Amino acid sequence: MTDRKPDSSWGRKLADIWPDLVDEAHIWCLHCLRVFPIGEWDRTEYCPAADCNGSPLDARAWSELARDYGWPAVPVEGQVYDPYSEP
Ligand SMILES: [Zn+2]
Repeated sequence: MTDRKPDSSWGRKLADIWPDLVDEAHIWCLHCLRVFPIGEWDRTEYCPAADCNGSPLDARAWSELARDYGWPAVPVEGQVYDPYSEP
């Protein structure tokens, strides 16, 4: 659990669905496999990619994925990180 109170409506919405995500700097989209700063998601309340309609339900914590797949701690914004492809 975290004591941090999200200061945006999306942050609060996200906290309801995924309480652990509010402390993340980057959020990965299950829909388009791209990653964006949490502030970008915050603005649109959906995946920031113009051609993606990923919702908060598609949001995943970057730090966990980076750990599981050996991806960089700080991702390239908007880049596709595909967990299903072989390196
Ligand atoms: Zn997306």
